Amino acid sequence: MANTAVTENQKLLSEAVIAPRPARKSRDYQQISLYKEVNPLDWEDWRWQMRNRITKLDQISQVVNLTKEEEEGIKNAKGHMAMAVTPYWATLLDPEDPACPIRRQCIPTQNESNISPYEMADPCGEDSDSPAPHLVHRYPDRVLLLATESCAMYCRHCTRRRLVGHAEKVDNSPDRCDAAIDYIRSNKKIRDVLISGGDPLTLEDEVLEDLLKKLRTIPHLEFLRLGTRVPVTLPQRITESLVSMLKKYSPLWMSIHFNHPKEITRRTKIACEMLADSGIPLGSQTVLLKGINDRPSTMRRLMHDLLKIRVRPYYIYQCDLVRGTQHFRTPVEAGINIIEKLRGHTTGYGVPTYVIDAPGGGGKIPINPNYVVSQGKGKYVLRNYEGKVYTYLE
Ligand SMILES: *Cc1c(COP(=O)(O)O)cnc(C)c1O
Ligand code: SF4
Repeated sequence: MANTAVTENQKLLSEAVIAPRPARKSRDYQQISLYKEVNPLDWEDWRWQMRNRITKLDQISQVVNLTKEEEEGIKNAKGHMAMAVTPYWATLLDPEDPACPIRRQCIPTQNESNISPYEMADPCGEDSDSPAPHLVHRYPDRVLLLATESCAMYCRHCTRRRLVGHAEKVDNSPDRCDAAIDYIRSNKKIRDVLISGGDPLTLEDEVLEDLLKKLRTIPHLEFLRLGTRVPVTLPQRITESLVSMLKKYSPLWMSIHFNHPKEITRRTKIACEMLADSGIPLGSQTVLLKGINDRPSTMRRLMHDLLKIRVRPYYIYQCDLVRGTQHFRTPVEAGINIIEKLRGHTTGYGVPTYVIDAPGGGGKIPINPNYVVSQGKGKYVLRNYEGKVYTYLE
């Protein structure tokens, strides 16, 4: 009995050891010609980072050796979801390897023009569950508020690419969310508001605070949540003043979009520590992406590294059927296999829920390995993580 466990663990361990660590060329920004002259104070200024995002081919080609596919992709992305890469994120790119997981998430390729017949502009049917502008009300007791169309970086797999990354669609007017807030105020069943977008942490402190303040005046709201990728793509945004502002609106939870262990840099760790120290519980959301994080060993390392920076793995999403993302999509089996390799083998806190956000607006549906072997009258036959069979009598 013990022997099977030992061999299984040894197998997993050796897999972890031989799995190639991503070429973690932690480049110093001053080594990149584009940033040679940059003052460290500017580098640490999130507004400087936003203003100096890489959006053009001749800029990104000073950071990496572009492939033909990438060059075409950048040209074709104009008028769709454009490219935008923060200087910080640019330092994480492998200049020579087009398969670099960091690079594939931010540089468009020609693959984005391959649209499969199953793919949709709005794969989760958000637009049809919208009772007020920028609001999605799908579940009985909670809503999703799309606070902005801006992000620090545009992820090539983004499920909301119909909305984000189109400069002409950005509406940051102070009354943008007022109709949504009125709807929330008049619906007493809503106890939880998830503020997402776009990325709400690209808003100025005052704009975000104004929104939090308005929501706080609604007595039936029990807590608020922020959904963001900023601690990963623009950790400089997590400033002392932001954190002390957010602290006033406790209980406030935060879900951070992390996809690869290479994203957990020392700089991101500092940002997450500041957030956690100010009493914000942190969760992660990860999109399962082919060739990026679809190996169980990569996912396990990500989950372990998240726990070390006090982020509790929350969801792994099957990549939605968004137009032009076929090259990122794995079979569902890959996600089930990842959960199979996590559950029982590692810390329970490190096992997120694998979900498919159902096409057409069915919401998040959990997908799990099947642990029930058979079920009869008063009797469950179960298997554990090692495949051993046990019977539970009711
Ligand atoms: C994901 C999501 C939520 C929040 O779901 P939880 O499972 O509570 O995190 C709420 N509304 C919509 C439309 C969502 O997509
Ligand atoms: S940060 Fe989120 S909303 Fe913005 S592009 Fe990435 S996945 Fe899309």
